[in-house]
Amino acid sequence: MSYDLVCAHCSGLVELGRCATCRASRERLRAQRTLPAGLLLVLGTALGLLALVLR
Ligand SMILES: [Zn+2]
Repeated sequence: MSYDLVCAHCSGLVELGRCATCRASRERLRAQRTLPAGLLLVLGTALGLLALVLR
């Protein structure tokens, strides 16, 4: 996911966060980037617990 997006509101780079729309988009992108990592962590923990139970 790239931050090099141009804002539809202020025509500036979203990464720069010039307006509220930029900042909202940036936060949404950040959430999308961090969500898969969190899911993997939960999945890994679940698998680890399962392995302990089955042993
Ligand atoms: Zn903007």
